[in-house]
Amino acid sequence: MKKLCLLSLVFIAFSFFKPAYAEIINGYDEEIIQAHKNITNLESLREETLNKADQHFINKDISALNLLVKKLSRNQRKTAYLINQLKVIDPKLYYQINTIRDLEGNETDVYIKVVDDLKWNFLGATNVAQSDCNPHIYHSAYGDTTVSVMLTFPSKAIALKVLVHELGHVKYQVPNLASYMVFYRKAYFGKNYNSRIYGHLEYDPSHHSVKETLKTFRQKQTVIKQYAKQQKKSENTLVNYR
Ligand SMILES: [Zn+2]
Repeated sequence: MKKLCLLSLVFIAFSFFKPAYAEIINGYDEEIIQAHKNITNLESLREETLNKADQHFINKDISALNLLVKKLSRNQRKTAYLINQLKVIDPKLYYQINTIRDLEGNETDVYIKVVDDLKWNFLGATNVAQSDCNPHIYHSAYGDTTVSVMLTFPSKAIALKVLVHELGHVKYQVPNLASYMVFYRKAYFGKNYNSRIYGHLEYDPSHHSVKETLKTFRQKQTVIKQYAKQQKKSENTLVNYR
């Protein structure tokens, strides 16, 4: 019984964690910290438990949690890699998303997670929802004033492109949520569109934001690549000269 309570507490903690300032957040960070805490709690419980059968069940739970941590850590590392690449290649976009606010000035956190797969074989998805309390406040599974971005990782290059695509949506949707939702309902609801069309009709402002964001990102990526190429060339010249 005590064991069940402990596990429930962990999942409650997963759902309600939210930092006090706006930022881009690796969606796995707190989840993994909580899982480690839970393992520690179960280990203490095992120490106190004399009954062999109970110890056996606790050991099983610890093993399951260790496996979970291993799985989460793999995707945590991929997520961290993408966030870091974004920071290096397009620091302006990183800063914009890291400090994004809604129309009323509420700081909004953007949770990013690389996942194994997504519904309908999507490569990425950004949730779009309003708070029950205020139509300007973004809402996701992490609570009010949060956005959830999920993406798969077919390769480093594709995943990075998908992340920038999704952040193009975030950049428009957070500060324009109330008016965008009016547009969104009118444009998509009851139309029987293919799910891939959502957010991407030609006259959808969020779609335009995605196009703009990707264009700027590509330009910055090209400059960095050219610079790296030149650096390599001059290094080679120096070697040849010597
Ligand atoms: Zn999209």
